[in-house]
Amino acid sequence: MSSIPDRAWNLAKALTAFAADGCRTVPKTTYRIRLQTCASCPRREDNWCLECGCFLPVKAKGRTWQCPLGKWPTT
Ligand code: SF4
Repeated sequence: MSSIPDRAWNLAKALTAFAADGCRTVPKTTYRIRLQTCASCPRREDNWCLECGCFLPVKAKGRTWQCPLGKWPTT
């Protein structure tokens, strides 16, 4: 898991990008595909991404938020 300062910085950047995008979320199908991709990823631990330190059920919803390893399909 990334350090707490890194996680805080990642969160600040993610929230800024989300707000700039009008807080738009992805369609339900995209959300499901994202979480299915995470389910088989070795960088997932429970509901957390070990790459970015994000909480996946929330991260997968934001349109501007992306997998740090580029594993999510682009929509
Ligand atoms: S966001 Fe990407 S790196 Fe993180 S758990 Fe999901 S697929 Fe893996």
